[in-house]
Amino acid sequence: MTTETRILRGAPLAAVLREQIATGIDALIAAGGRSPVLATVMVGSAPESVAYRGSIVRACARVGVTHRPFDLSPTATASGLVATLRRLNEGGEITGVLVLMPLPRHLRQELVVDTLAPLKDIDGIAASSVGRLRLGLPTLPPACPRGGIELLDHHGVEIAGAHVVVIGRSSVVGAPLATMLTARDATVTVCHRRTRHLADICRQGDVVAVAAGRAGLLTRDMVRAGTTVLDFGTNVVGDRLVGDAAYDELLGHAGAITPVPGGTGPVTSLVLARNTVAAGFAQLTGSLDGVARMPAAGFRATLAGAAP
Ligand code: ADP
Repeated sequence: MTTETRILRGAPLAAVLREQIATGIDALIAAGGRSPVLATVMVGSAPESVAYRGSIVRACARVGVTHRPFDLSPTATASGLVATLRRLNEGGEITGVLVLMPLPRHLRQELVVDTLAPLKDIDGIAASSVGRLRLGLPTLPPACPRGGIELLDHHGVEIAGAHVVVIGRSSVVGAPLATMLTARDATVTVCHRRTRHLADICRQGDVVAVAAGRAGLLTRDMVRAGTTVLDFGTNVVGDRLVGDAAYDELLGHAGAITPVPGGTGPVTSLVLARNTVAAGFAQLTGSLDGVARMPAAGFRATLAGAAP
């Protein structure tokens, strides 16, 4: 049996996000804040990081957020990375900081987690940001999962009461996605590399979200007809960007699917830009509670993933 598969594109939501950012910047400046500046730090030049930065550059250019690139050599030391982050923490011009992942093997992600100033942590990875998200307090939510949830909302996919299977438990995608979906009353199953019977579990999902960093991991036989597939994969294969879902074979079988590119990707970069503006409000206030001053109603109402 074939199903008409709805393509959940990021573009219509991107237009809404750009509007929210424009309104937010005006309000930030009116409140005495500075024009927002987003710094990306790249150590080496992993193709995924280069692609993500390209998307951030394009998003920022369209919404009036200034982007500043900081590049470190692939052999940069831990103390070199920490020194760069401390400079950015203290730099008055910089509103938000994102360190592009993956880092080279010799640099642990904890270095970033422990060093980034929470009020500039626009991807919500610092311990205080993770804790505030878990507690439902105003915070800067990790951009990628937050954008994915807004994409489901925008296209009218029901989250409350749905069984969402999340493949991946990384601190920037899978884990915060599970936290936010639980706060939105979904029933969440988190799967990972050691999960047994992955296909059986996925077939139970009303929604399957995949953030494993494995091209084509989610195949047609793993999902029930009519399921919604939320694909966070950004794998560079040859000169193409492909998701974690086997897109072509899921067409005509899944009920809805986010394409790669053009699904969660462009939304993620805009959520990051919006978080930068929200960070500007937090800095005006001196607390992450200040992000609630961001005047986009939809943003404020669902800051920590709570139901709108
Ligand atoms: P990302 O940044 O996309 O979340 P990471 O490499 O940090 O990627 O994390 C990958 C996650 O995906 C891990 O939680 C891992 O357990 C999970 N994962 C990777 N491969 C598989 C697989 N074949 N089956 C199930 N889970 C997987």
